[in-house]
Amino acid sequence: MNQSITLHSDVAQILLTEDEIATKVRELGARISSDYRDRPLTLVSVLKGSLPFMADLMRAIDIPVRIDLMEVSSYGGSSTESSGLVRILKDLSASIVGEDVLIVEDIIDTGLTLNYLIRYLRGKAPASLRICTLLDKPARRLVEIKLDYTGFTIPDQFVVGYGLDYGELYRNLRYVGVLRPEVYSGAPEG
Ligand code: 5GP
Repeated sequence: MNQSITLHSDVAQILLTEDEIATKVRELGARISSDYRDRPLTLVSVLKGSLPFMADLMRAIDIPVRIDLMEVSSYGGSSTESSGLVRILKDLSASIVGEDVLIVEDIIDTGLTLNYLIRYLRGKAPASLRICTLLDKPARRLVEIKLDYTGFTIPDQFVVGYGLDYGELYRNLRYVGVLRPEVYSGAPEG
């Protein structure tokens, strides 16, 4: 079967179009550029879900930035639920001591993953640490976290696309959407 037909036909509803995302990313980039003018900024993004957002956001920022990448996995949960137990698969490659750091995240759901990451990065003594997330799903928040830059607040639905996966698939969709229920029920928990 044609892969692209399978990919798009698994999507029940598009929540955010490619254009809506691009417009929002430009807005966020402009705000960040203005807020950090004259301050060297390090963007720290969290693989793999934040990859497209990071790639687009950094190019929407027109002040000098450094970038670094971390990879974390939450374990003990299912493919649609975060457990809050976080394992660092890839650490920062450079020191952030005394740096202004902005964490670039794809989505904040319970907040457990980000809460862990904030505590971990604070321990590395940056000058400042702020959060930018493309998507905020506040309905299921378990820990209070101050988000400095939010793209979109979305309802309590499991979304895929623009970096977000289900069973490691759908990250390459250019939009954010919700899968048909039978796609979730047919796949193994991971
Ligand atoms: P939290 O720890 O805030 O509950 O979840 C953070 C991580 O869970 C995200 O970085 C993402 O990997 C995953 N996640 C949370 N909600 C969703 C969702 O709606 N769709 C997808 N694909 N992943 C999600």
